[in-house]
Amino acid sequence: MKHRIYNIPNSEQQILITTDVVEFFGTYRQQGAEAESGGLLFAEFDFPIIRIVEVSPPQPTDKRWRTLFIPNRVFQRQLIKQRFKKGHHFVGEWHTHPQGKPSPSTLDLESMADSFLKSKHELNYFIMIIIGNDIHNLELWFSVHNGVDYYQLKENKD
Ligand SMILES: [Zn+2]
Repeated sequence: MKHRIYNIPNSEQQILITTDVVEFFGTYRQQGAEAESGGLLFAEFDFPIIRIVEVSPPQPTDKRWRTLFIPNRVFQRQLIKQRFKKGHHFVGEWHTHPQGKPSPSTLDLESMADSFLKSKHELNYFIMIIIGNDIHNLELWFSVHNGVDYYQLKENKD
């Protein structure tokens, strides 16, 4: 699989998902009766490129159902601090849906707005990636959120 690039609207910045991370997402596509998976996204800043280089896998203490995923927030806060020390910045979250072409639920949108407002960070947006379950074609929902609005970004095919 190949890396993916997304342009942030009204900005010079681009978000790149590395090949390794795209492949990681591919392995978590939700098959059959499997529960949702999810975790955090970490990036290296090389402006104007924001490079998503690391993602955290689901944890045994997360709560997981077929159409709902509730992460262990205490674990996540510790991980964010730890990764920050090695220059990997927390930039958002990923989770899976049992849908070919994934789109966010109302709860997903509310929870992104809420975490943007409640966490300490210096970002303009939090990123949300949702992984579809089409085994032939890895479909990703990609959006950026602030406390008020969100924008769905389309992959830059150039
Ligand atoms: Zn969802």
